[in-house]
Amino acid sequence: MLDDMVDHLRDVRSRPVWQPLQTQTRATLRAPLPAETISPDAIYDRFRDTILPYATGNTHPRFMGWVHGGGTPLGMLAEMLAGGLNANLGGRDHAPIEVERQVIRWAAEAFGLPETAGGLLVTGSSMANFIAVLMARTAVLGDDSRTKGLNAARLTAYASAGVHRCVPDALDMAGLGSDALRRIPVGPDYRMDVAVLAETISADRAAGATPFLIVGTAGSVDVGAFDDLAALADLCARENLWFHVDGAFGALTALSPALRHNVAGMDRAHSIAFDFHKWAQVPYDAGCILVRDQADQIRTFTAATAYLTPGTRGLSANAPWPADLGPDLSRGFRALKVWFAIQAFGADRFGEVAERSCAVAQHLAARIAAEPALELLAPVPLNIVCFRYRAPAGEVDALNREIAADIQEAGLAAPSTTIINGALAIRAAFVNHRTRTDDADALVEAVLAAGKTRHDKKETRR
Ligand SMILES: *Cc1c(COP(=O)(O)O)cnc(C)c1O
Repeated sequence: MLDDMVDHLRDVRSRPVWQPLQTQTRATLRAPLPAETISPDAIYDRFRDTILPYATGNTHPRFMGWVHGGGTPLGMLAEMLAGGLNANLGGRDHAPIEVERQVIRWAAEAFGLPETAGGLLVTGSSMANFIAVLMARTAVLGDDSRTKGLNAARLTAYASAGVHRCVPDALDMAGLGSDALRRIPVGPDYRMDVAVLAETISADRAAGATPFLIVGTAGSVDVGAFDDLAALADLCARENLWFHVDGAFGALTALSPALRHNVAGMDRAHSIAFDFHKWAQVPYDAGCILVRDQADQIRTFTAATAYLTPGTRGLSANAPWPADLGPDLSRGFRALKVWFAIQAFGADRFGEVAERSCAVAQHLAARIAAEPALELLAPVPLNIVCFRYRAPAGEVDALNREIAADIQEAGLAAPSTTIINGALAIRAAFVNHRTRTDDADALVEAVLAAGKTRHDKKETRR
């Protein structure tokens, strides 16, 4: 199995990026509960036939959809070691917990947070943003809010119109309702309008609400834009609000001398959400919440129970436990693959991967600008390019949606789509460390060919 997977990663370029799961194959994955045992060899054969060829495709250098990391062979091996140890990182006194603490300290150092900082590895930035919302709630309403709930307080939070959907989801899950999030319009640079933000906060206060949280976006999913984090930090200080940064992928630009100007002010955040499974290429899943003062995290999540009381010696020593820092009790050894990656690649390499992704995006933007049949739909401040194949207004959205799917189904490349100012865009986000400029060229050729084929077909029908 190990040899096969190493070969599989080595030969990734020779395969289609993605292929649709055939009905027959899908059916075999919906078999009833097995009553008889199946030999590991036979199960592995099924894996090779029905799963291996039909995965997401994000290990492939021409996967450009959404925001997906590419993984590494070393990450795969670290996962194997973690599986063998089968450590439970909810708590107790053992080395794996020290590894997670080490990783958190490294991340806090990378982003310029002080010694008081803490954090936790989580599934992804969705969970990290949720934890941040709960910490901000406890900070504004006090510890009582954990037992008494909101007690008629009307909390309001603020984020850019380009905020990731997991932020309103986090407010929903926290019991505040997603309408508690005020979506502040962005300017032509796709950054939140700070003047409108300040006015909205004042209006909410005047109407009896309790503003408590500003979420700054560092790397928006649609175009890769950064809010003016320093201005948001100033406003939070003035208004006494929790300042959280959703830096799912963009936070790691802090590790690049060429890109770190984007996150100026992020080191003043109360909390930062980001992912190791995107630009840091750690295998899924590996997200992280960092908090400026670990005391804010402990007061939000710690709970006294006789069964889980940490002691002073033996296995029950070593508090606070990760279970006191987030919603999960039993937790796997996610930290090991992150610990391997940080040491094997070093902080500078993560910055270089981000720079390379941005260079590929600029290359693609230049190619599109030079192709009369294509047009850019948004600026390209980072690693994301939104564009389309030109066509008459009534047809252009549907055509581009079809082109994206055509290319995916042909296995040539895997862009995704989004809506930019009401127009459907083909969206290429460069995150995978394997992606080169010729992969962006391949996308251009594929879009032109698919667009022409669809156009010609239409002409024939007329
Ligand atoms: C990916 C992403 C998220 C969600 O993170 P997950 O790791 O998928 O949970 C949130 N915000 C932004 C800006 C993202 O790019």
